[in-house]
Amino acid sequence: MDKQYSTPSEIKSAIEARCPRCRTGLMFNSTLLSLKKSRMVEKCPACDLKFEKEPGYFYVAMYVSYVLVVAELVAACVATAVLSGGVESPWPYIVVAIAITFLLAPFNTRYSRVILLYWLTPQFKFNRKIFEKVKSEGY
Ligand SMILES: [Zn+2]
Repeated sequence: MDKQYSTPSEIKSAIEARCPRCRTGLMFNSTLLSLKKSRMVEKCPACDLKFEKEPGYFYVAMYVSYVLVVAELVAACVATAVLSGGVESPWPYIVVAIAITFLLAPFNTRYSRVILLYWLTPQFKFNRKIFEKVKSEGY
């Protein structure tokens, strides 16, 4: 008898950095806030999908990361201007921009790859059959 599994939401799976095909296996060996060095696993531990579909594929994630960094810097500089009452010295903006760049680097690295695999790689779509197979195997 087949058991029914509810489909995990795409956004929730992406935030948790789960495999885009089975939405079950984790793409990284540690959580975002863990002190352990975060590395991306080569294959999905649940469905065996190879994440780097061709050599150098994650160079494309640099462009996604660039968009994330620009958005973060614009938001940080606007917030600095608003919170400081429009100070004219460039130093508060430079300090905030450098701090934001370093603090959000792990986030940008992780989610640029997640965004690339979830929404910019058409081959990696959620597959209900693989999801149910992985779940029935007790993953
Ligand atoms: Zn998978």
